[in-house]
Amino acid sequence: MSRIVKIFDTTLRDGEQSPGCSMNLKEKLEMAKQLERLKIDVIEAGFAIASPGDFESVQLVANEIKNATVASLARSTEKDISTAYEAIKTAVNPRIHFFIATSDLHMEYKLKMKPDAVLEKAIAMAKYARNLCGEVEFSAEDASRTRPEFLYQVLEAVIDQGVCVVNVPDTVGYATPDEYFRFIQGIRNNVPNIDKAVISAHVHDDLGLAVANSLAAIQAGAGQVECTINGIGERAGNAALEEIVMALKTRNDIYQADTNIDTTQIYRSSRLLTKLTGVKVQPNKAIVGENAFAHESGIHQHGVLANKQTYEIMTPESIGLKENKMVLGKHSGKHAFVDKLSSLGYSFKDEEILDLFEQFKVLADKKKDITDKDILALVEQKQLAIPEVYSLERFVISTGNTISTAATVQLRKNGDLIEGVSLGDGPISAGFKAISELVGSNLTLIDYGVEAVTDGTDAQGEAQVKISDGNQVYHGRGLSTDIIDASLKAYIDAVNQMIYINETQVHAEKV
Ligand SMILES: [Zn+2]
Repeated sequence: MSRIVKIFDTTLRDGEQSPGCSMNLKEKLEMAKQLERLKIDVIEAGFAIASPGDFESVQLVANEIKNATVASLARSTEKDISTAYEAIKTAVNPRIHFFIATSDLHMEYKLKMKPDAVLEKAIAMAKYARNLCGEVEFSAEDASRTRPEFLYQVLEAVIDQGVCVVNVPDTVGYATPDEYFRFIQGIRNNVPNIDKAVISAHVHDDLGLAVANSLAAIQAGAGQVECTINGIGERAGNAALEEIVMALKTRNDIYQADTNIDTTQIYRSSRLLTKLTGVKVQPNKAIVGENAFAHESGIHQHGVLANKQTYEIMTPESIGLKENKMVLGKHSGKHAFVDKLSSLGYSFKDEEILDLFEQFKVLADKKKDITDKDILALVEQKQLAIPEVYSLERFVISTGNTISTAATVQLRKNGDLIEGVSLGDGPISAGFKAISELVGSNLTLIDYGVEAVTDGTDAQGEAQVKISDGNQVYHGRGLSTDIIDASLKAYIDAVNQMIYINETQVHAEKV
């Protein structure tokens, strides 16, 4: 009989703190809701004390998520732990996750504490956290490089205080699979009260071994693994959730462990994270890369046509890659549209549905078949909408291969019309320049790209723009069947993001 391994997702904490992966409040909530659809057991929503903005987002996730445990990270101080609890206390199932480093290297140089003092601190904080919250997880930072006897002693002591999950990270991504297997086994054999707690693995991918190490931990008896969507995270990233889950599913004969994950939501979760952060997945990435299920060579294609199993160890359907073939079109009614929304896991108030249905009709006039991806793009755009200080009213761009490009762009700023003209090397650069001059800030374009949401010549284009004001990078998105329209909208969205983020940070400081 297979046992269940719990999936602890730290996309919103360890993942979000990696370069280029920051998300605003609405984006974090949207990601959390998708993690809930994916049926994650524990969502680590953030590090509540890190900033007022972090506190607010952890609190929002705790309020909204009903079917998963919501955790916040805390260092080993009363202030950190009580702030974490303050942020998560309204969750259906809150969990405080506190940590202290236990390796000689970290204790001596980072904490400047003697082992006895670290042990004492861990005990005191476990007691403090347990008084606040029924569910407490303890992490021994740099556990894989900790002297085993000391680690056993610390784990036994915190379990005695009522900690129910002990996490033993390979913080620096240094362990190898057989070593990490023996390490977990050592904990099982040498911590006398280990049956009162779940052992958790949290590994980083510095040597490309994160998933292998997580699977080794599971084989050695770990009951929880900590991971992120697309493997995002500090440095080389965390263990990739989708790879661990699909390895357990595909090789159940070896691991004899299941998860509660709805694997058909994997592709959608990966795609949403890419959209929110603008950080792309490499094409050959296992499970969710663009080529992961593509058979290029003739011999392989021939084999797959004859019998899929010749070259396919799992199906694209199992991760939700192949979408429902039921397409909507111009003549689809509101009823069919609402059905489609609920089959995608969304429920909206009546007035929101009316608004979305109107947008759907506009799109259906331009595009014959409306697929799930088109509808998801519309819905996500609505969910992620932030106050529009600037919006695109109209633009005219004249371009050609023998003339210089001129863009006239008219924007609405808080209701008032403003217009600017600019020259550029091409339509996008001229358009961006015109907007930047109208906004009047000194903005640098960091990254720009446009992709088709679906196949076909009438496909919607989704543009991504990253700009910097010298302090921070802001990420904007735009959607349209016209790529120049989508691109200008994305640039304006990035400007609105800049205003929104700066305003919510000021507002958050009042918390
Ligand atoms: Zn980590």
